Amino acid sequence: MTRTAIAKADSYDMDVVRKAIWKIADNTAFPSVSGKTVLVKPNILSDSYPEKAITTHPSVVMAVIELIKEKGAARILVGDSPGMQAGRFRPERSGIARVAAETGAELIDFRDDTRIHEIRGIRIPMTTAIDDADIVISVAKFKTHQLMSATGAVKNMFGLVPGLQKSPLHLKARTPETFSALLIGIFREAHVDYAFMDAIEGMEGSGPTNGQPRHIGLLIGGENAFAVDKAEAAIMGYSSVPLLDKAEAMMPGITETEYPLLRPEDLVISGFKRIPEGRKGTMRTLFIPNLLSRIGIQTDGRPYPTFMHDRCRHCMKCVSICPAKALRMKGNKVHIRRSRCIRCYCCHEMCPFDAIRIK
Ligand code: SF4
Ligand code: SF4
Repeated sequence: MTRTAIAKADSYDMDVVRKAIWKIADNTAFPSVSGKTVLVKPNILSDSYPEKAITTHPSVVMAVIELIKEKGAARILVGDSPGMQAGRFRPERSGIARVAAETGAELIDFRDDTRIHEIRGIRIPMTTAIDDADIVISVAKFKTHQLMSATGAVKNMFGLVPGLQKSPLHLKARTPETFSALLIGIFREAHVDYAFMDAIEGMEGSGPTNGQPRHIGLLIGGENAFAVDKAEAAIMGYSSVPLLDKAEAMMPGITETEYPLLRPEDLVISGFKRIPEGRKGTMRTLFIPNLLSRIGIQTDGRPYPTFMHDRCRHCMKCVSICPAKALRMKGNKVHIRRSRCIRCYCCHEMCPFDAIRIK
């Protein structure tokens, strides 16, 4: 049975974070990194300031890199690839470029070198950093997610697919269930050895970008990323999330774990703003609903995005990212063609001005 350690960490003070990260590693099966190349994959969804709680906090990335260094790693790579990025990727605002510089880790841009992987019959480019690394560590962020209910250590590895090349994959896996299967495929292809989750300041509400920061005061870690995500979902108060449902269907027992420190059922956050459950497709959604969706009527409980024109700054990020080409700028307003929209919510995820609502 795998172990998942949950430790209190009330602030991003380096001493607090270091102590908790070491305690988690000591109470789980942290891999042997001595003499090895280790890839550290934080969540840098967009290069935002740490207080927005969109990205893994730099103090957590720092403490993880320090741990790996002390355990004798020969080389440490750190990187991610946001959906929209201009020029060379330097996560300055999130503080992760500074952490790399201070620790001597190599900051890499996942777009530099990719290799095609065949996953579930789909050709998917992924960074060759996973080929270079002997050990891969996901360092995720505790956040809600409009499509997947929660984003965690498994979904974090979607960032191995460089930049905008993630976008068309939504067309090939349109429902939370099929997208979950794709994410699990990518995760397994990356051979992830260990996962940490920054749950000191998490995000509730309209995550993963436009929700509200929420103090949780925890760090989570373990050798089983599915179990780490299960702990997150339980602390958020979900009874089920699509990715873990799919993982259990594909690999029965995969989320089973022991908790050597705190237990998630004792940590459930009262009043945590979750994504409404039950927004997943069912067998009944396959026939008449598909016809209705062609004329822009949805029947599976998942809403279409709506645009707050008064907040929109016309940056065009939503139009560029939309895999279904369902958006265009008409005059000064973003216009959506519902008959095309697959409700992947990439537009919501990428909008830097909180101008898109999913409700
Ligand atoms: S409009 Fe938004 S939710 Fe609809 S397909 Fe495009 S990116 Fe996805
Ligand atoms: S991403 Fe947001 S601000 Fe930019 S055009 Fe779309 S709705 Fe407007």
